[in-house]
Amino acid sequence: MTDSPETPIVIVGGGLAAGTATGSLRERGYDGPLIVLADEPHLPYERPPLSKGYLMGKDPIEKALVHDAGWYAENRVDVRTGVRVESIDVDGHTVTAGGETLAYRALLLATGARPRRLPLADEAGVPVTYLRTIESSTALRAELRPGRRIGLIGGGWIGLEVAAAARAAGAEVTVLEMAAQPLLAVLGEEVATIFADLHRAHGVDLRTNVKVASIEQTEAGGARIGLESGESVDVDHLVVGVGAVPATELAEAAGIVVGNGIRTDARLRTSAPAVFAAGDVANVDHPLLGRAVRTEHWDTAIKHGRVAAANLLGGDEAADALPYFFTDQYDLGMEYVGNSGPDGFDRVEILGDVAGLSFKVWWLRTEGDRERVVAGMHVNGWDAIDEIRTTVGTLR
Ligand code: FAD
Repeated sequence: MTDSPETPIVIVGGGLAAGTATGSLRERGYDGPLIVLADEPHLPYERPPLSKGYLMGKDPIEKALVHDAGWYAENRVDVRTGVRVESIDVDGHTVTAGGETLAYRALLLATGARPRRLPLADEAGVPVTYLRTIESSTALRAELRPGRRIGLIGGGWIGLEVAAAARAAGAEVTVLEMAAQPLLAVLGEEVATIFADLHRAHGVDLRTNVKVASIEQTEAGGARIGLESGESVDVDHLVVGVGAVPATELAEAAGIVVGNGIRTDARLRTSAPAVFAAGDVANVDHPLLGRAVRTEHWDTAIKHGRVAAANLLGGDEAADALPYFFTDQYDLGMEYVGNSGPDGFDRVEILGDVAGLSFKVWWLRTEGDRERVVAGMHVNGWDAIDEIRTTVGTLR
């Protein structure tokens, strides 16, 4: 193992987990060489604004940077953007990128996730956005204007946030969702219906239980989406939001154990010595939930970045934070804590003023003659978050 003080800690990936880890390593007193290899042409940045403030033209992209260029310079963090790591030698403790081989004393894989592609859309050659990068958000922003017809395939979080941004810009929006409600699997029928109603109230043509059967280019250069029902929808621009796939290929090729992401223990250690994984790509043995959990959440990337930093330095911290997620759509802001997992939930309790968009929700699973709170959420009730954090996981 190469662990001389001159051998750097190397981080692969230029997202939130990578950016957070750099800050945390320096805060924890690591003074040695630190290299970030990031394939995008940007300093590490946060993605939530790409479907919210930045997409809506409210916030400059600089606001999304984890640290600015000055910070990296002051803290002697060598961020190499536009550099794709091609391979890892876990025995030799090296990575190869752009023909150069770099030794590492410890390695963090924070390669994130990529949008799942929809071959029907790609093969049709229609104008389509898969929202993940600054470039994709900038391009989509230009499409969101009055009268422009935007078609969204997938009523997940990103799809619905784009729908809200598009409506705010005056575009006409059609959302095509395969399930009976958008967000059904996570939220369950009652709460998913609240989101569906919200979008319809804002003029979104939300179609559920629909299956896309074909996509072809229209004469005007837009997309004609054929549905299995025989109907079709013509749009000027298509946005596909059908989930993301963890970027595991580098780890897999290096012989690191993967399975729905890079598998790690609770300390974010992979199967290879001195190699850690964090953020969207990490499928982590969660010490409180008692199973492997991979989330694609902003907060997880931050928490993992910090825990990874501690353990890259030989620490023994566990990634034990409960999954936390937030979204903003129209005048609905919410925070959600928990993860009901494969066992799901048996009952949902909604407390407060749903019509006034000010309420709290508990997701409950029966255990014997009691109920476990497996998740909680507030809508526009920001003071409730502490109670939600302490209640989730408890029995009542
Ligand atoms: P990423 O941000 O994906 O960063 C990984 C980076 O590694 C990428 O730049 C990738 O190109 C790079 N990379 C991959 N392979 C290599 C390689 N071989 N060499 C070099 N670099 C490589 N979460 C919320 O909780 N709330 C929200 O409201 C929310 N909104 C979102 C909106 C959008 C549009 C998107 C896309 C995501 C949103 N998320 C939200 C999710 C959140 O942004 C992610 O969980 C977070 O970005 C994960 O950070 P990460 O560092 O793990 O991965």
